[in-house]
Amino acid sequence: MKKITILGSSGSIGAQVLDVVSKTKGYVSVEGLAVGANIELLKSQIKKFKPKAVSVSSSSAAQNLKKWSKTNNIKIAVYSGQEGLEKLAIMPSVDMVFASIVGSAGLQSIVTAIKEKKDVAIANKESLVMAGKYIMDLAVSNGVSVLPIDSEHSAVFQCCNGEKKSQIKKILLTASGGPFYRYDKDFSKITVKQALDHPTWEMGKKITIDSATLMNKGLEAIEASVLFDIPIEKVEIVIHPQSIVHSMVEYIDGSVIAQLSSHDMRLPIQYALTYPERLPSSIKPLNLFEIGKLEFYKPDFNKFPCLAIAYYSARRGGATPAVMSAADEVAVAAFLNKKIKFTDIAKIVEKTVKSHKISKNISLDTFFEADLWARRYAQKLIKKGDIK
Ligand code: MG
Repeated sequence: MKKITILGSSGSIGAQVLDVVSKTKGYVSVEGLAVGANIELLKSQIKKFKPKAVSVSSSSAAQNLKKWSKTNNIKIAVYSGQEGLEKLAIMPSVDMVFASIVGSAGLQSIVTAIKEKKDVAIANKESLVMAGKYIMDLAVSNGVSVLPIDSEHSAVFQCCNGEKKSQIKKILLTASGGPFYRYDKDFSKITVKQALDHPTWEMGKKITIDSATLMNKGLEAIEASVLFDIPIEKVEIVIHPQSIVHSMVEYIDGSVIAQLSSHDMRLPIQYALTYPERLPSSIKPLNLFEIGKLEFYKPDFNKFPCLAIAYYSARRGGATPAVMSAADEVAVAAFLNKKIKFTDIAKIVEKTVKSHKISKNISLDTFFEADLWARRYAQKLIKKGDIK
């Protein structure tokens, strides 16, 4: 039985991980669960999955939970704050930590888990973009696996099974293209409402806007480059509106291996949980006759400058991807608040990235500092209206 901890069990990924756990009965046991403030949901998860320990953001919520567990005769350790996350990440009985907490708290707990020799499944692409090489190097030196949860990266991971990395020619990362890949009107007039209307996926607001600017694919290209230790030039983005081929790997002999399935996040989650095994799943079987055709297009880097910025940031290296990701978060929030135009998102990110001074000595703090610097810088640009 695989024993896991889920950091961020109240979010959409966390809920789907727990769904997979219940459907693969007896295969996985949940040792630890951490949520932010959703105590009621956590209580029902405790009843159903019987973890040994839980963690919540505030100490007052932890007190409330302790009382509740006593009244209900449930033996459980209750922690809180960053310390609580760290405690859950290093529980001796745990084999794998599912990391789906965004931001620096998430990154810190990933690092702690790896140092304690736990495998990690990373659902938070920002931490891989922010400090991907650092995380991967740490994983190698501790002999642990980093398992991808993003559907594209799970696909690449599956296409690389049993193959030699040195024989990969390129990774073909597919993208649905978002709502505007065929849009031929003025991009600067795109409204928040238009941008939030994604044709294929239902997601959070930040990632929906990132899908509209294609920054999401830029982040994923960097993620692929670090996860599979492949130069960014060997990661090619392919627009594939049907979202059936989740990504492909081309080898030096000309073979291209693809992973196809209906789109359901529970499949990459289950694969990370059961790897290297495969178990039956409840996802909708792929019906190729119903789908009929699969299309592939080249993305236009001029129309979607965020792609060019992502490739530039990856090549520049150091903490530049961290700066890009943080500036994007600030710019997307400003767009959602109607403070800037759709086309300003890329301009703000580019300006922030190009103003960042690269540092030679990289430690974990470098990424946190770069992140903070980028947020402040991008805020200032927006406040001053300094967007060319
Ligand atoms: Mg994805």
